[in-house]
Amino acid sequence: MIRSVLLPFLLLLAPARLAAWDYEGHRMVVQIALAALPPEFPSIVGGKDEAERVAFLSGEPDRWRNVPDLPLKHAGGSWGDHFLDLEYLTDAGLDLETLTSFRYEFVLQFARGRAAHASAFKPIDPARNQDRTAEWPGFAPWAIAEHFGRLRSGFSYLRVFEDVGTPAETANARANLLYVMGLLAHYVGDCSQPLHTTKHYNGWSGGNPRGYTTWNGLHAWIDGGIIARTGLRFPALRDRVVPARVLPLGPRADGRDPLFVAVLDYIRLQHRQVEVIYELEKAGRLGQAPGAEVPAETRALVEAQLLAGGQMLANVWFTAFRGAVPDTYLRAAIARRQAAAP
Ligand SMILES: [Zn+2]
Repeated sequence: MIRSVLLPFLLLLAPARLAAWDYEGHRMVVQIALAALPPEFPSIVGGKDEAERVAFLSGEPDRWRNVPDLPLKHAGGSWGDHFLDLEYLTDAGLDLETLTSFRYEFVLQFARGRAAHASAFKPIDPARNQDRTAEWPGFAPWAIAEHFGRLRSGFSYLRVFEDVGTPAETANARANLLYVMGLLAHYVGDCSQPLHTTKHYNGWSGGNPRGYTTWNGLHAWIDGGIIARTGLRFPALRDRVVPARVLPLGPRADGRDPLFVAVLDYIRLQHRQVEVIYELEKAGRLGQAPGAEVPAETRALVEAQLLAGGQMLANVWFTAFRGAVPDTYLRAAIARRQAAAP
């Protein structure tokens, strides 16, 4: 009886999606990114406290998941901004080569495509969809592009406050930059976990001609199990970090946002590792059995993904800094304030 009463309740509590990298993984992505920043990057993250603040914040969006607030769960920040299940886009008839960089335009296009290709999607159980998220494929590249815009704005106004603002304004501007860098760290890091790019995010879903596992512990094993079992930490990766590079920000002929396209390309690249993971599992090479040693190729895969995430994160941060444009509106406003001061 207890079981029959409690089970539906427990199912409601069970998260529909799992986190990507456990906190340790997200921290490593940040450590890689910080190590990749070239000397010209502002010293805002130069100190130990600042680096720790960004590392702490790289876990922040996952903390938002542990709340009862359905509007937050529904909005990307608590849920869909953490991933993009690429297969659902093509299932809905969308072309990844022309995917819009506008979030709400995409929402409309996806809803239309999903309705037109309804048979390609599994029915949704309303009892398990109280936050109304089951309809959506995830919004990670839009979230990253939006946070990139906030970071670029932050660098723009930091320059103005450093020039003509008060010490308190400059300190606030610096604190804001750390905050946005930390949030970006989370979402960029999530997308380097290949299972955050696929509908097969926790065991193979649907038609399964290659007989891949449907094990629902797969996601957690990739997120944190391998890192915990191997004791992998940043020092083991430090020598492989290369300097960040600037991503192209020039206008595109198709009018799409260039940073969004770069992020989408990055996600598509990580997606190629999805079947590699399933093949490793099929070959018994994931090392998940209790007490088993994690095979070198599996540890190498996790290392490569953390490095991919950290390098991309550094590129995104560095591009926001290099691409910051002068905030002439703010500069003029401060000039008026100073002229009016007694
Ligand atoms: Zn996440």
